[in-house]
Amino acid sequence: MSGPSLRVRFAPSPTGFLHVGGARTALFNWLLARHTGGTFILRIEDTDRERSNDELTAAIVDGMTWLGLDWDEGPFFQAEGLKRHQRDALALLEAGAAYRCFCTPEDVDRRRVVAGIREGAFRYDRLCHRLDPDVSLRRAADGDAFTVRFLVPRGVTRWADVVHGPIEFDNAEIEDLILLRSDGTPTYNLAVVSDDVEMHITHVIRGADHISNTPKQIMLYQALGRPLPVFAHVPLIHGEDGKRLSKRHGATAIDQYQTMGILPEAMVNFLALLGWSSGTDQEIFSVQELIERFTIEQVNKKAAIFDVQKLLWLNGHYLRSRPAADIVPLVLEHMRVAGNAPPASAGAEHDRFLAVIGTLQARSRTTEEIATQAVAYFDHALQYDPAAVRKHWKGAETADRLARLREVWTALDRWDDDALEAGLRGLAETLGVKAGMLIHPLRVALIGAADGPGIFDIVRLLGRERVLHRVEQAIGTMRSTAGGTVP
Ligand code: GLU
Repeated sequence: MSGPSLRVRFAPSPTGFLHVGGARTALFNWLLARHTGGTFILRIEDTDRERSNDELTAAIVDGMTWLGLDWDEGPFFQAEGLKRHQRDALALLEAGAAYRCFCTPEDVDRRRVVAGIREGAFRYDRLCHRLDPDVSLRRAADGDAFTVRFLVPRGVTRWADVVHGPIEFDNAEIEDLILLRSDGTPTYNLAVVSDDVEMHITHVIRGADHISNTPKQIMLYQALGRPLPVFAHVPLIHGEDGKRLSKRHGATAIDQYQTMGILPEAMVNFLALLGWSSGTDQEIFSVQELIERFTIEQVNKKAAIFDVQKLLWLNGHYLRSRPAADIVPLVLEHMRVAGNAPPASAGAEHDRFLAVIGTLQARSRTTEEIATQAVAYFDHALQYDPAAVRKHWKGAETADRLARLREVWTALDRWDDDALEAGLRGLAETLGVKAGMLIHPLRVALIGAADGPGIFDIVRLLGRERVLHRVEQAIGTMRSTAGGTVP
């Protein structure tokens, strides 16, 4: 696909957040621009003027910034093109490619009912196109409200879609669409064509839900005497049940993924695979690799499935490839939001925090998961997971074993992995039990959970004082109750 003169745009209708589907469309446009050395433009389609531009734009800009999708021009605001939209519609009116329509929606609906045609199947009957031109002019001059309707020509409209191949529509199936409403504002199809012409867009890449708009837009380009861009309609995104992705399937806004601890590079990799494939089994792609390899020709037409497990898997991969120091601020932020900020992160505590994150990083899929597990390593009231307690704490017997272990470990003159392990294994032998009979209850005593890093990793991360203290607390809890919260 073409070189430096390529110009693409992402044209979201601002809804207050950046949707997964929108982000994927933005990414494909951006990748193509970066792959070809072309220009990527951001245009906010804000024709709904009720809400402020700043607020609406911020949500989109934040999402794109987080993903690293920088634009070369814009953001432009569609509403600012109002005069040009009107000028284009009036030019079509002058040229006879459009006409004034004085019918109100109620008039049109009445005629539909009389004709016995169901809603949705009725196409405007061109009553006003048959009006005498002088009458039409006079009514307009008299202040009669009118819309400007496009006169859909006879014939067939076709284009070679880069994703879907040849597509054609019989124009007879297309209603004379309204270009300007009676209040003078443009409709979507007019505004988009007018803006794409103005911005010299060469490739329109957008969701497949716009395929039915494309013949209308092509006819508008032709009526305006403008060259057509290339069209590529990227596949819809479905949930795992095969239905169109919606809130029912979980988070659909990009910022929700940020909040739940997904890294931007994982999100970009994941979004790229929603419809694009490299033609190999490779699934992990850095942004640089995507830029090098991405072409629109390799986008599939069949709906892409949004598989959250795959996103988490990719995120786990990127999480492991980042240095712990990079992850620390993200984890601290989750902990802070959850009201669990560690007491100190300077000096020795900072090193310990880094070590905790480094260990948990290897076994987590999101920064939020790391944060949830990290709490147990700081001086917060330790919550014992009731299921873990039921499984591994067997009353007085367990308490006695842990008490013996505590004695052995307290007496150690070297507190290192080898000495700790030798002490624990020696005791297991003396007691005639497997080492697991000490390790499992101990893990619950130390971090409150049955799952976690290796026991000696945990012991090292907590340090001698905390370990001995927590074992004592657990013994106390075991002896007095069946479980609970250590104060
Ligand atoms: N504002 C439209 C949307 O968000 C843009 C469609 C287009 O790219 O032409 O769906």
